[in-house]
Amino acid sequence: MAGKLGVIGFGTMGSEIALLGACAGMEVAAYDPYPGAIENGMKRLAKVVKMLARDEKFFAAAAIADDAGREAVLGRIKPVEGLAEFSDCDYVIEAAPEVVELKHKLFAELAEHCRPDVLLATNTSSISISEVAQGIKEPGRVVGMHFFNPPSAMQLVEVIPGLATTEESVVRAIELAKSLSKKGIRVKETPGFIVNRVLTAMMNEAITLYEEGVASLEDIDEAMRLGANFPLGPFKLCDLVGLDVYSHACESIYRELGRDKFRPPFVLKRYIRSGRLGRKTRHGFYKY
Ligand code: NAD
Repeated sequence: MAGKLGVIGFGTMGSEIALLGACAGMEVAAYDPYPGAIENGMKRLAKVVKMLARDEKFFAAAAIADDAGREAVLGRIKPVEGLAEFSDCDYVIEAAPEVVELKHKLFAELAEHCRPDVLLATNTSSISISEVAQGIKEPGRVVGMHFFNPPSAMQLVEVIPGLATTEESVVRAIELAKSLSKKGIRVKETPGFIVNRVLTAMMNEAITLYEEGVASLEDIDEAMRLGANFPLGPFKLCDLVGLDVYSHACESIYRELGRDKFRPPFVLKRYIRSGRLGRKTRHGFYKY
C-alpha cells in the first residue's frame, strides 16, 4: 500500500501496528517520548517478524521470508522526535496510554501538524472518540480503530465513528484495516464496543459461577472449550489479558451503563490486590 503511516506510542499495540504498516509496504513514522521505547520495541519486532515469516497465512509472509526482506520491512519504520514530523503522513494511528487528557492533547497537536485530509485514528479500548476529537481542527477525520492484542495475529479491527466523524473517514478506516489484512467492522460509539461488551458480560458470569461453587474454574474453562468451542476458557483468557486490564475494562463499561453484569467481581479485586495479575505475574486464576 502506498502512503505514510504515523504511529504514536510504541508499546504492545503501537509497535505491532507499525509492523503491519511496514509489512503492507507503507513508510512508518514512529513517535514515543519514553527513552528507549522505540529501540526496545524494534528489538521485539525483529523477533515477531521472524515468527510471522513462518506463518504461511500471514499476509506478508513472502515479503519477510528471508533476512533481506525482514530488514527491508523493519527499515521502513523510522523513529521521529515529535508530532511535527507527522506533517507528511497520510494516516495516523495513536496507541498511547489509556488516559483521556493525554489522547485529547495528542489529537489537538496532531490536528495542527497534519493535513486536513489525514485520517487520525485512536486505538482506545474505552475512551469516547467524540471526546478525543472535541474542539480540535477538522474533527470529522478522527475515528476509533480498535485493534486486538496481538495485532499481528488478531484479525479484527472495530471501527468506531465519534459524533463528528465523517462517513468518508469510516470508509477510509475500514480500507486501511483491509490494507493491513484485517477485517474492519463498524460499531456505534458505545462502551466496550462489540467484543469487550460481550466478553465482560460472559466472563463475569463465569466468575459468578465459580464464586457460587457451581464448578471448579478448571471445569468451567473445560466446559466452555468443549461445549461452546471456545479456543480457551474464560479464566485462561482472563489470565492472558491480565486481571487488572480486565477489571479496568469492566469498570469503564459499568461506569457508563450502570448495569450490574459489568461490575468488576469482588474476587478480581482480591486477586489484583495480592499481585495475582495473570500470566504476566505468573499467577492469576492459575499458577504458571
Ligand atoms: P503500552 O503501555 O504497552 O504502550 C503505550 C506506549 O505509549 C508506551 O511505549 C509509552 O512509552 C508510550 N507513551 C507514553 N506517553 C506517551 C505520550 N505522551 N505520547 C506518545 N506515547 C506515549 O500500552 P498498550 O497496551 O500498547 O495500549 C495502548 C493503547 O491501546 C491504549 O489506549 C489501550 O487501551 C489500547 N489497547 C490495548 C490493548 C491491549 O491488549 N494491550 C488492546 C486494544 C487496545
